[in-house]
Amino acid sequence: MAAPLPKKCVELGFVENSEEFLLRSRFFPSKLGGRPAWLSLESIPTTEQLSCVECMKPTIFLLQVYSPCTLKLETFHRTLFIFVCSNPDCCKTNSNKNLHVFRSQLPRENKFYSSDPSPEIEVQNEVDASLFNKLCVVCGCLGLKTCSKCHNVNYCSKEHQTVHWKSGHKVGCNLSKEADVSTKEVKFDCLFPEMELVTEPENNESEKDCVEKTDEEKMKEYDEFLKKENVSQTCGEMSEAELQKMASKESENDKQLRRFKKRISQEPEQVLRYDKGGEPLWIASDPKPEVIPDCKCGAKRQFEFQVLPHLLSFMNVDKLGASIDWGTLCVYTCSENCSIGNTYSREYIFKQDVV
Ligand SMILES: [Zn+2]
Ligand SMILES: [Zn+2]
Ligand SMILES: [Zn+2]
Ligand SMILES: [Zn+2]
Repeated sequence: MAAPLPKKCVELGFVENSEEFLLRSRFFPSKLGGRPAWLSLESIPTTEQLSCVECMKPTIFLLQVYSPCTLKLETFHRTLFIFVCSNPDCCKTNSNKNLHVFRSQLPRENKFYSSDPSPEIEVQNEVDASLFNKLCVVCGCLGLKTCSKCHNVNYCSKEHQTVHWKSGHKVGCNLSKEADVSTKEVKFDCLFPEMELVTEPENNESEKDCVEKTDEEKMKEYDEFLKKENVSQTCGEMSEAELQKMASKESENDKQLRRFKKRISQEPEQVLRYDKGGEPLWIASDPKPEVIPDCKCGAKRQFEFQVLPHLLSFMNVDKLGASIDWGTLCVYTCSENCSIGNTYSREYIFKQDVV
């Protein structure tokens, strides 16, 4: 007897340590932190495209997800890249202004990589974006500024020039290019730790949402809400109906958070949920995006994956002083995977927080 066809399920992403060289461009990795392993090695996003909308400083590479699509020749390889501003002040509730997401895709036959998988051995000269662009020695993004003293190193911004200066170029600048160790593969504190993202299907035993609460439970919750908020005294102006509305709103968010936690608790180490064309697992009932902006090609965007708050625990964000965070980050991409050649196309990201 044939086994029943498996239901389309969500792919979960987990963080794992990996050999560093396996996270370079030619292996088409999904990964967190370090420098981006650019897919298309030319036409990478400009410094302006990657600057934080809040503070105008450069955002930092957060993660990339390799998600090829076999329906089209030109999406044989396909990777999505997320960048985030590491300044906690730019991290505002339910605002995506400190975030960017870009799509890159290539056919199997392309000008950068062999059409066959790369052998898993370390090589001296990696095929990477530095062959086609000047890259910032710190963050690995486009670096069109040059150290005016030695002319040996490039930067995306004044900020990263300062980072580099303090982390050794102050000495290295006076040395030859070969002797300047500050330009070799240095791990900069301003980048997130580099780790591989691996996926496996979710084994979801209980698709069902939490059981609806009884009226009695709802009433009890409402009473507790009133007590907690001291509503009867402070909201004297509010009508009974308004109070009811507030209470039910509160419990909608609670309910959603409970659903979220219940589903996540089956695999608590998950950091990412991939469910192209599906629905995000919201962490709160509200806000959800009212309109997802269409792709610049005119096609609708669809949900593709979401990043979970557990990822933050791998990012050493406390090191940054205060902390950036999110409830969940939902990425929406062009449903047509429209042609973009070797360029990078902006997609849409929505940040939902638990208030
Ligand atoms: Zn910022
Ligand atoms: Zn930089
Ligand atoms: Zn220099
Ligand atoms: Zn499009």
